[in-house]
Amino acid sequence: MKKLIFTLSLFAIVQLSFATEGMWIPSLLNAIEDDMHAYGLQISADEIYSINHSSLKDAIVHFGGGCTAEVISSQGLLLTNHHCGFGQIQQHSSVENDYLKNGFWAATKNDELSNPGLTATFIVRMDDVTSRIIGALNGLTGAARSAKLKEVEKELVAEFTKDTKHDAYVRPFNYGNSYFIIVTKTYKDVRLVGAPPSAIGKFGGDTDNWMWPRHTGDFSMFRIYADANNEPAEFSKDNVPYAAPAHLKVSMDGVKEGDFTMVFGFPGRTEQFLTPKEVEYVVNEANPMRIHFRETSLGIIDQAMRSSDKTRIQYAAKQSSISNAYKKWIGQNAGLIELNAIKQKFELERSLEGLSSVHKKDEYYNAIMDMRKLDDEIHDYKMARDVFIEYYYYGPEILAFAHSFNDLINNFAKIQSEGKLDEKVASLKAASEAYFKDLDADTEKKLFSEMTPLFFKYMPEKFIDAEFKALNSKSKGNMAKLTTMIYGKSAFTSQAMLNTLLAKPSQKAFAKLAKDPAFRIASGLVNGYAEKVRPTYNELNGQIEQVMSVYVRGLMETFPNKTYWYDANSTLRLTYGKAEGSSPNDGMQYNFFTTGKGILQKHRTGNPDYDLPPTMAAILEKGIYGPYADEDGELHVCFTGSNHTTGGNSGSPALNAKGELIGLNFDRSWESTMSDILFDADRCRNIMVDIRYVLWVVDVYCQAGHLVKEMTLVKGQGQEKPETEKLEIAH
Ligand code: ASP
Repeated sequence: MKKLIFTLSLFAIVQLSFATEGMWIPSLLNAIEDDMHAYGLQISADEIYSINHSSLKDAIVHFGGGCTAEVISSQGLLLTNHHCGFGQIQQHSSVENDYLKNGFWAATKNDELSNPGLTATFIVRMDDVTSRIIGALNGLTGAARSAKLKEVEKELVAEFTKDTKHDAYVRPFNYGNSYFIIVTKTYKDVRLVGAPPSAIGKFGGDTDNWMWPRHTGDFSMFRIYADANNEPAEFSKDNVPYAAPAHLKVSMDGVKEGDFTMVFGFPGRTEQFLTPKEVEYVVNEANPMRIHFRETSLGIIDQAMRSSDKTRIQYAAKQSSISNAYKKWIGQNAGLIELNAIKQKFELERSLEGLSSVHKKDEYYNAIMDMRKLDDEIHDYKMARDVFIEYYYYGPEILAFAHSFNDLINNFAKIQSEGKLDEKVASLKAASEAYFKDLDADTEKKLFSEMTPLFFKYMPEKFIDAEFKALNSKSKGNMAKLTTMIYGKSAFTSQAMLNTLLAKPSQKAFAKLAKDPAFRIASGLVNGYAEKVRPTYNELNGQIEQVMSVYVRGLMETFPNKTYWYDANSTLRLTYGKAEGSSPNDGMQYNFFTTGKGILQKHRTGNPDYDLPPTMAAILEKGIYGPYADEDGELHVCFTGSNHTTGGNSGSPALNAKGELIGLNFDRSWESTMSDILFDADRCRNIMVDIRYVLWVVDVYCQAGHLVKEMTLVKGQGQEKPETEKLEIAH
């Protein structure tokens, strides 16, 4: 298949490319089915997505709302990334049962571990309801438009879920140029089945994250449980493994260079239509600010994690999420600068502006002018929001924790009279337990003292709460003093004190907390944000969405030869490409796969990120690969492809031309991280772990072959039985 891809400048060279930019809506695959067949797909669009019979989509799960997982056995066994299950693995870990370090494998179903709050959502169907919505909104603006939209959405949800236990929601696509209703079924009892040691699941750590060549066994396994009717139910020991109507077949054929590949999952967010000013903001302001915040917190957390097993376990999940985005933003900025993204975007906009005048398309011309104005107007609010997120959600934890008591501090009498006191108190007790379990007091104080100056540096002054400002000036930049002023006096540093309060909750005791210094800072931040930032931000953002819908329509109409796709918005998408390497930088040629040999090579460097669990090196050294070796005799570990993916595609199945599982998507190369904003066919590669390596780790290294027996393994046209009992592994 050859697509004509315009580079972003209208007058630049038209490029012939095998690019596979795009994240396709599965219910609309018929439109690109021929392209996909030309590219190598051997099954029909209907076998990928159908509402009339079982199709691949029935095995794809939105895992915990943020990642993807897939059903790989008829008993509801789920495969996802290690980094997607990391929070759960961490929660079950302790110094005595260190599942992060040693891995965990449930010997029987009774040993599988429950995870309150974790969900597995299937897509029942997704339907285009654009005409229903646009028709109803015709001529309406502002509040009347929003109210009408809500009303129609409600009607549609009622209609599509009638006489079922399904949920549904309506999502705008392409800045409201299209709308889809998405009908879902969510299972709420999802148990941890197994995870390899982090030295496999996170092999390469921060050194290798977002990098190729890669050797990470980034997978973990869960299982969906259902009630006696196979329907969703809250956790109960009476629940039974979900009898899956569809599960993926696992291919033992391996992957050859140039093979068709597709990735089916829930990409989170892409922003291909950002205006030049918005890209400028990301590259020159937002990313440098965020990187500064995270560099600071990682400096503190990484050191604390090295100091004891306890802090390593406490901060493992927090560290991962902070460092993942941190490294991505560094790569994203480098990629956007390398591609001259700001200039490209300005050129495209100027072309649109010029052609709008020539074609007398005032609508598009006005949209450009409006966007320029709106981008300026929203600038400070956007910065305030981005700084608030970095400081409040990824900074010192005492603030959000203290603020979780807000409701009882301010509305005690009302909550009590409504009979909701016990429920509220119970949830605070649980929150408090979880908070102190994973908190190291010294690390927390260091985070406060080193991140607070960044807050004052980056938050536009007009949005800073007066009391916090006064406290900060009182300490005259002496952060040690300010930290002592807060942490020395706050009740939110003492679990014992809070336990006493929660054991006998009284209005008086809660009222006293209103004066707590940590609570006061948190309230100042939250209220300041809610009053001074959010309303204007939302208002301007609403206007931007509307103007952008015209701006984007303008681009599509003016440059019709470009391939258009809808930005990712956490809905189910299919992306396809080929197994292929890349040459992202001058003089560099990346192979498309890695092998066990590379694990050993990295291990020999002595970098602790390449530590291996016991006996792994010896087993790899001996080449005990069993049926999981490639026909070249090697154990293939990871491979790259030209599938357009983003965050949220973590855990997505990589499928071959027949729709069989060949790998598990988990990352992109560093040179690809700008693809959320600007995709580049030559550089962008997604990274997948080879399914045969997953099976090898489960079956051979971790000796949990009973799970492999649950799966349907296929080779060529036939079924394949794993025969690994014969493999002698001395651990
Ligand atoms: N590893 C990535 C993530 O965690 C997945 C991606 O963005 O490609 O977000």
